[in-house]
Amino acid sequence: MKLSIAQKIVKFFSSASVFEKMMEDSKRYRFTCNCGKETSIWEIGGIRYKAAGKPLTGTKCPHCGKFAMRKIYKTDI
Ligand SMILES: [Zn+2]
Repeated sequence: MKLSIAQKIVKFFSSASVFEKMMEDSKRYRFTCNCGKETSIWEIGGIRYKAAGKPLTGTKCPHCGKFAMRKIYKTDI
């Protein structure tokens, strides 16, 4: 598994079980691009854990390469 710098740093400071939970959580935080593809925060190298609300974040869609402000939402699966 390839980790981003941010993910590596978090991994370094966390225990394996906590990191596992963060990874699961980060995969649940997603955004949908105008191109119709859904991407998780984890996929774009980000990490989110126990975050509240639905923040807007500037992210680049890995599918079409477009950068835009995205509404991040959390899914249950
Ligand atoms: Zn896209």
